[in-house]
Amino acid sequence: MSNASVPKIDRFSLPDAGGHFGVYGGVYVPETLMTALQELEQAYEAAKNDPQFQAELKHHLKEFAGRPTELYFAERLTNHVGGAKIYLKREDLLHTGAHKINNALAQVLLARRMGKKRIIAETGAGQHGVATAAACAKFGLECVVYMGAVDMERQSLNVFRMRLMGAEVRAVDAGQKTLKEAVNEALRDWVTNVRNTHYVLGTAYGPHPYPKMVRDFHRVIGLEAKEQIRAREGRLPDELIACVGGGSNAIGLFFEFLEDTEIRMTGVEAGGRGIRRGEHAARFAGGRLGVLQGCKTFLLQDSDGQIEPTHSVSAGLDYAAVGPEHAFYHERGRIEFAYATDDEVLAAFQLCSRLEGIIPALESTHALAYALKRAKELPKEKIIIASLSGRGDKDVQQVQAMLAAKTGGK
Ligand SMILES: *Cc1c(COP(=O)(O)O)cnc(C)c1O
Repeated sequence: MSNASVPKIDRFSLPDAGGHFGVYGGVYVPETLMTALQELEQAYEAAKNDPQFQAELKHHLKEFAGRPTELYFAERLTNHVGGAKIYLKREDLLHTGAHKINNALAQVLLARRMGKKRIIAETGAGQHGVATAAACAKFGLECVVYMGAVDMERQSLNVFRMRLMGAEVRAVDAGQKTLKEAVNEALRDWVTNVRNTHYVLGTAYGPHPYPKMVRDFHRVIGLEAKEQIRAREGRLPDELIACVGGGSNAIGLFFEFLEDTEIRMTGVEAGGRGIRRGEHAARFAGGRLGVLQGCKTFLLQDSDGQIEPTHSVSAGLDYAAVGPEHAFYHERGRIEFAYATDDEVLAAFQLCSRLEGIIPALESTHALAYALKRAKELPKEKIIIASLSGRGDKDVQQVQAMLAAKTGGK
């Protein structure tokens, strides 16, 4: 049965040559970066069509990162809910603990191919920084990671991990001292050192070609999932669910299924403490069109266009803007968006740990919380695949403190 309300989609027609997904995307950067972005796009397109690069990438994704990842039937969660079957795409099993290594490894290989000896990256919670530091260590490249001073304090273990692997972590003291400021600082560095430096951006966001390139590096998630669910169930799933920060793990899972319009896809944003100014990061619940950090998209802003503060229990979803491809498919009605609140996430985090023996990342738990809700509404023969984008080891201390605060320390 095909969904007549969704127009036919040619997923490869986007973005256009200027990096546009409809009105979203594009290249909003200072002139000094235009040459670097064009050079990157050319190098990327050449690498994409080079069987030798693809073979090399595939080899390292297997041997270093641990692909393919399992598609895991969450039997006890499924029985607990009593509805649709829930499968988890286990990106949490990858080296360094999240899907981020797919992109970091690929961009570092690309930089090496371009003859760039120095790598820079931004990081929020530290997952992308750790993945980039690991890839740089493996290939012997210099690595500088920009991180907000507040985030460095909150995620001091990830700072130590990056330094152990030889990366230099530079504290950013501007503004809110979190991810947005770290991106600004990385862009500033890139403008100054563009000759020998590649900027490994960590999500499907920013100026063209990043949203497209990062998406392509995560397509492997959906390619594997499609093959795995066919082998396991003999058919495609009914629904796909993934959390959306910038949108990379979600578009990685969704992309292979975009043209299968009978499959429902839902991106789950951070509902935080509820949909009030400064209390959440659900861009599709209160955001509107604007430009931030090289890209035109949906963002949380005030009436003057100033970026609103955001909040989420998970640092990886705590960003005021969303990837342009998601904004486009939201507008077209192909990808739906929901949000999970901090409290729903905390409950699902404990449930998954107790029933499956899997501690999920707080980011991924947003997808899980919504998957549990949807599974309950659906009959038993339906199939849901949720993206388990990362593991929760990084989050256990925070959750312990939150639970202690709730129970008054008992
Ligand atoms: C960074 C991160 C996210 C959010 O990033 P996307 O680009 O939206 O995927 C989600 N899950 C985990 C585990 C992360 O580390």
